[in-house]
Amino acid sequence: MKDKHALVTGGTSGIGRATAIALNAAGVRVIATGVAAAEIEAARADAEFVGIDTRVLDVTDGKAVADLCASLHSLDILVNAAGIGGQGPVEYEADAFARIIDINLTGSLRVCTAARPLLAQRGGAIVTISSVMGFLGCAPAPGYASSKGGVLQLTRSLAVAWADAGIRVNAVAPGFIVTPMTARLQGDSAGNEKVMGRTPLKRWGRPDEVAASIVFLCSPAASYITGVVLPVDGGFLAAGA
Ligand code: NAD
Repeated sequence: MKDKHALVTGGTSGIGRATAIALNAAGVRVIATGVAAAEIEAARADAEFVGIDTRVLDVTDGKAVADLCASLHSLDILVNAAGIGGQGPVEYEADAFARIIDINLTGSLRVCTAARPLLAQRGGAIVTISSVMGFLGCAPAPGYASSKGGVLQLTRSLAVAWADAGIRVNAVAPGFIVTPMTARLQGDSAGNEKVMGRTPLKRWGRPDEVAASIVFLCSPAASYITGVVLPVDGGFLAAGA
């Protein structure tokens, strides 16, 4: 993958950060984006980020997304790791529901569409990030679950639509991963017990474990794989209720 070019949205924190680092280690030239200037500053001071370019990007801002993609000369890999976690019962209200869909689902579509011409020039690969909650009903966060179910169908639809352009599109569906997004749940003993009770491997996942699957799906080793969703969840989905 040496000298390939990658854009990782949400690439300065959590799963995206681990993916940016893993791609960089594989010789890929990576641009990692984050929504907040403070997150970008922290990444620039991060020893593991040496060699990785960083930018601020809000995936709800169509013009910013278009401008960023227009500034790139070539692109082989797009990883859509930008997203927000479940916001709680407020997601039963239309505004909060619409906001999480706008970031997690429509945001992925915006970036994919803006990047498509560049990816089509070189037979590129896209990886989106769904969730085990994309497969399951989630009473505490209906907007989050809907956004992640939508990401699954967006992934499959783009895989079919863009195969002719030589673009592969796949998704990972992480289980419970130790990132800033899940900090509160990690510290909540009742919630934690419930999650671990259904996770056969009996531990949380690490961001680098998800990143390894993302790198695989972007790599030539996955050249005949498109439209799949790979759970990276310690067996959570296999376990049933
Ligand atoms: P994180 O909070 O560490 O990282 C989220 C990233 O998204 C940050 O870089 C942030 O700047 C960026 N972001 C947030 N809002 C944005 C916006 N409007 N525009 C652009 N970027 C924005 O979280 P994470 O756990 O690494 O999550 C990454 C992805 O993985 C998310 O889509 C999340 O839903 C998904 N996921 C995470 C888990 C988990 O357990 N951590 C499980 C399943 C799925």
